[in-house]
Amino acid sequence: MKIYFVGAGPGDPELTTVKAKGLLEKAQLCIYAGSLVNPRVLDYLPEACRRVDSAGITLDETIALFKEAKQAGIDVIRLHSGDPSIYGAIGEQIRALAELEIDFEIVPGVSSFQASAAALGVELTVSDGSQTIILTRTKGRTPMPEEQDLKHLAQTKSTLCLFLSIHKLKESATILATHYGEDCPVAVVYRASWPDQQIIRGTLLSIAQAVKDAGITRTAMIIVGDSLRDTTAVSKLYAATFTHGYRKGKPA
Ligand code: SAH
Repeated sequence: MKIYFVGAGPGDPELTTVKAKGLLEKAQLCIYAGSLVNPRVLDYLPEACRRVDSAGITLDETIALFKEAKQAGIDVIRLHSGDPSIYGAIGEQIRALAELEIDFEIVPGVSSFQASAAALGVELTVSDGSQTIILTRTKGRTPMPEEQDLKHLAQTKSTLCLFLSIHKLKESATILATHYGEDCPVAVVYRASWPDQQIIRGTLLSIAQAVKDAGITRTAMIIVGDSLRDTTAVSKLYAATFTHGYRKGKPA
């Protein structure tokens, strides 16, 4: 008996991994994050599978379900949106499993920041610019360590992917502008890979109003940085003159 922490992917059921689909297809109990997981991914479950929306239950109630499953000798699929290791709150569940002596496995998923980059048609790392991607959030009811406050992260001028922060877009953009500049491009992707996906583009100065006008208040990824800007930079890796372990470069 095992608990599988499974990434459902960002929304589009075709972005659910083959491994996740296989597990869903033979599931007997699936506890899913109903606020974010596309119900179409749940279509992979057999009709007889018991479904529990984790949005309506506490951690203790989830653990009670794990215990029940252990007694019944059935596996549990704990289905999280995107990739379970990113803001999935799986750590606390895993710690409880150690005490209960229940085995577990994590099945990674396509994260919403990746689906957002795909929707935007961009590379998040650019040869002459950001070589770093920061996945972060703003503080809300969940506090942030002071060193990771946006005002500090902004100094790196990395490509920034902000989860769980659309309601704080205006103040975040103001903080970021002090380092990235007001004209730095920003994109907000609402429900990346869902049929009703929306993309709003702007700058740190304009984005908050544009998103407000579009009425987007949840399930959105904010991506900030020069990687969204048009560039003529080319990578070294594929340059004709560049030699590496697999190819000898030609003289310039
Ligand atoms: N584990 C998930 C993140 C869960 S936290 C992942 O890897 O994607 C929830 C936040 O993720 C949301 O507030 C939003 O910022 C982002 N998010 C989740 N699904 C999204 C989607 N389809 N499009 C855009 N953002 C999404």
